[in-house]
Amino acid sequence: MLLSRYFLPVLRDTPKEAEIVSHQLMLRSGMIKQSAAGIYSWLPLGLRVLKKIEQIVREEQNRAGAVEILMPTIQSADLWRESGRYEAYGKEMLRIVDRHERDMLFGPTAEEVVTAIFRDSVRSYKDLPKNLYNIQWKFRDEIRPRFGVMRGREFLMKDAYSFDLTKEDSRATYYRMFAAYLRTFARIGLQSVPMKADTGPIGGDLSHEFIILAETGESQVFLHEDVLKEKVPSADTNFFGDLSGIFEAWTSRYAATDEIHDNERFEKEVPEDKRVTARGIEVGHIFHFGTKYSEPMGAKVQGPDGQLVVPEMGSYGVGVSRLAGAIIEASHDDAGIVWPVPVAPFEVGLINLRAGDAATDAACQDLYSKLSSAGIEVLYDDTDERAGGKFSTMDLIGLPVQLIVGPKGVKNGEVEVKYRANGERETLSTEAGLNKVIETINSQRVLA
Ligand code: ATP
Ligand code: MG
Repeated sequence: MLLSRYFLPVLRDTPKEAEIVSHQLMLRSGMIKQSAAGIYSWLPLGLRVLKKIEQIVREEQNRAGAVEILMPTIQSADLWRESGRYEAYGKEMLRIVDRHERDMLFGPTAEEVVTAIFRDSVRSYKDLPKNLYNIQWKFRDEIRPRFGVMRGREFLMKDAYSFDLTKEDSRATYYRMFAAYLRTFARIGLQSVPMKADTGPIGGDLSHEFIILAETGESQVFLHEDVLKEKVPSADTNFFGDLSGIFEAWTSRYAATDEIHDNERFEKEVPEDKRVTARGIEVGHIFHFGTKYSEPMGAKVQGPDGQLVVPEMGSYGVGVSRLAGAIIEASHDDAGIVWPVPVAPFEVGLINLRAGDAATDAACQDLYSKLSSAGIEVLYDDTDERAGGKFSTMDLIGLPVQLIVGPKGVKNGEVEVKYRANGERETLSTEAGLNKVIETINSQRVLA
């Protein structure tokens, strides 16, 4: 992409309305634009990040056997009356009346919709298990939308819903989603910690939140330091085997948010030098809730003995749009964002220091096409802005590698490579620079 053709409305000054660094940087780097309180447009740079997060989430859901569907944003209130949640949900639900005076709502979650889909199409235990997910916009009329996309009113969520014949089967599904979440956040470049959680209005008996440690997190968290050293399941893990070992390993040590923290237990179970108290951001939340929706909504399948069985359910959410902010909270410096390669809007920023100079333009054009042919995503700054402005914009938008090309280097057959994460720079022959950039990006793209 040529920067001269792109839409990148960067701001030089920090917007006053933004309290935390991720919100400030998302506005400054032209990723998002507020449209109303807690409601945002995603501008090109932000949208690329959102799509990459979404794709990683999707790949890990698919790996764990979940099947993608797309449910509507607007739901019928009658479905929620069936589950008994319509009155209970409160003011966070945006209620809408259509022209025929029918009560509708903008979905804050989709247990009811998916249970109705399942109920109307699955008849036999032979069709189980099923795990259906979608990545769809949700609306919750939060009392205090803040921190940009981290606590919006409209936000993108991946929500999966599982149906199993027995309690044991549905526990196994829960462990599978648990393992998938560990991989998802690690691939995004984040260290997540699963913490036992309250089930809240979703209900149920087993629930974990996945928390990213960051100073500006909304929850206070308490954990045993060694949880941070646990291994994320590798790509060759058999996701359809027994995953209880992974679950046990990750949940055997103390880790809790302030909502359920028990200080006496914490001090008893965790040696003093291993106690970590920090702030955290909830990026995912999984629930196992049995028949809470399938029962009242009449979802049943024929069991092996001919008797009707009410399936056991769980639901599994990831805050896809919240993650964009959470990554920035975890990865930035004074100059701007520092994107991990797997979610970077572009992987390389190519900077032409003398746009209009025939030799420099030609060298840049050549590098641009070679990188593009190698499958690298490049944002090419071909504008005639001065060098200082180009450098600060590239640092602000945080692309992992910068390739800097000026007339002097071109004469000597050299380019400069800058690594955004540690700020290191090196001057290499054009060919070596090109290869180094390709290698660096490829080596950081995926988690094994
Ligand atoms: P919170 O405690 O942060 O209000 P929640 O527990 O109500 O969230 P869930 O119902 O568990 O949220 O939703 C699943 C995921 O969706 C959350 O883990 C979070 O990442 C994301 N999410 C929830 N509410 C918002 C919001 N207002 N803005 C952005 N993301 C959100
Ligand atoms: Mg939650």
